[in-house]
Amino acid sequence: MTPLGARLKEMIAESGPISVARYMALCLNDPELGYYASRAPIGAAGDFVTAPEISQMFGELIGLWCAVTWRQMGAPEAVNLVELGPGRGSLMADALRAVRAEPEFLRALSLHLVETGVRLRGEQQHKLAGIPAKWHADMTSLPPGPLLLLANEFFDALPAHQYEMSPAGWRERQVTYRDGEFYPLLAAAPSALDRPGEIGDVFEQSPARNRYMAEIAARLAAEGGAALIIDYGHFDSANGDTLQAVRAHRAVSLFAEPGLADLTSHVDFEVLGRSARSVAGVQVHGPVMQGNFLRALGIEARAAALQRAATDEQARDIATALHRLIDTRQMGGLFKALALRPRGAPPPAGFERPAALRAGAR
Ligand code: SAH
Repeated sequence: MTPLGARLKEMIAESGPISVARYMALCLNDPELGYYASRAPIGAAGDFVTAPEISQMFGELIGLWCAVTWRQMGAPEAVNLVELGPGRGSLMADALRAVRAEPEFLRALSLHLVETGVRLRGEQQHKLAGIPAKWHADMTSLPPGPLLLLANEFFDALPAHQYEMSPAGWRERQVTYRDGEFYPLLAAAPSALDRPGEIGDVFEQSPARNRYMAEIAARLAAEGGAALIIDYGHFDSANGDTLQAVRAHRAVSLFAEPGLADLTSHVDFEVLGRSARSVAGVQVHGPVMQGNFLRALGIEARAAALQRAATDEQARDIATALHRLIDTRQMGGLFKALALRPRGAPPPAGFERPAALRAGAR
């Protein structure tokens, strides 16, 4: 059993089964034995690969998006560039390289990275060596001032509850331990969840994501700026069990190796948008498909420019990466982009035609 597993076993023996959300939170964020504290998860040698690791184009285009949005904001003299869950720091490194031709923007920005994982903080420091930056455990310690906030594959890692429809109505899914193994089970008490569902259906809810989103929205309403949130998930709330455990690029059991596998679930963009809209003074743009967002920012032209300076083999790799990022059947369709701006501000780049960009339109 993993060291975290031993601790969970003890916890369950003492005070009973824990919710799936609590299991997820402990597996991912236990400060000592949790997945993000102790592992180096991202990249070919890790457990999963994210868009900034697939191609430099992803971070470059987001860097340009930041510079354009900053101009749209009236080019404030000081702006906080904030990234939630920066992983290996690749997105930020590529973004800052792409805006080297924008010295005024570079002079205006101060960099803030919100990261709980100690090992990943180390990777970020290494990747961003020489660039002044501050690290934070959450958003509460961010300085005041307008912000440009980025979050790629951050929300999927925040814990979510699961409810299952039983003959007696919706019950919360919990995790218990018996005879050497962790098991799912349904809470004895009924839940307050009220929505249609057939026996066996699962519905996921994440107050942690909603709180984070509302906090971002409140900060934008108060300080001005923009937020760009990209993650995998669905446009509309729906029943479905999307919780998954991944290790070394393969799906593994949710319960076999607590603390050693990544646990995530799909983001419900309808609910996330609603959490942002609950804050007065904020406007939600999108969600749109990632592929359409990146196309609108000019990823195809960027790929062509990179290919012109590349060997044949590199050119093929660029084509493969481009396809993975924008194809509707791959990350281009599974991932969605959502932006927030203060009410009345124009839509940010990539969100100008929301209806067309939501559909598989080109
Ligand atoms: N954005 C990166 C990494 C995605 S993985 C990329 O696209 O490659 C999720 C990231 O969020 C990791 O950096 C992880 O350590 C961080 N993270 C997870 N939960 C967090 C929390 N509650 N607070 C701050 N960071 C968190």
